[in-house]
Amino acid sequence: MIPRIDVRNAVARKNFTGELEFAFEAEQDLIDIPYVEFSSPVTAALRYEIFADDKAEVTGKLSFSLKGLCSRCLAEAEKEIVCGAEGTFAPVPKDEEYGYSNGFIDLREFLRDSVMFALPPRLLCGTCAEEESE
Ligand SMILES: [Zn+2]
Repeated sequence: MIPRIDVRNAVARKNFTGELEFAFEAEQDLIDIPYVEFSSPVTAALRYEIFADDKAEVTGKLSFSLKGLCSRCLAEAEKEIVCGAEGTFAPVPKDEEYGYSNGFIDLREFLRDSVMFALPPRLLCGTCAEEESE
């Protein structure tokens, strides 16, 4: 389950920072690599900070695993990916900011973008990864 951040409640209680830890199932169609799929839920460890202008910054770490066939030799391959995630949320978003309304931050689009950004262009098995790095 992806929690929402209750900005109004947090501000009312003067809890301007907080931490969130949760796991969720990513949509398989985010992956563009043939014969590869998510083999674990995405685990998120995030920290948020709410500022005086009601903007909020969310930073943290996502981790998940990919599994499938090596993009070079079709052997079975698996890879664990850990990536950073960072986003700014604003009631009236500008540029790269995410919008939010009614005092609740919905993290879904941000998480989707962060996972997509972290996906490699292909998946390699151990042997092929070694050969390529030589
Ligand atoms: Zn291979």
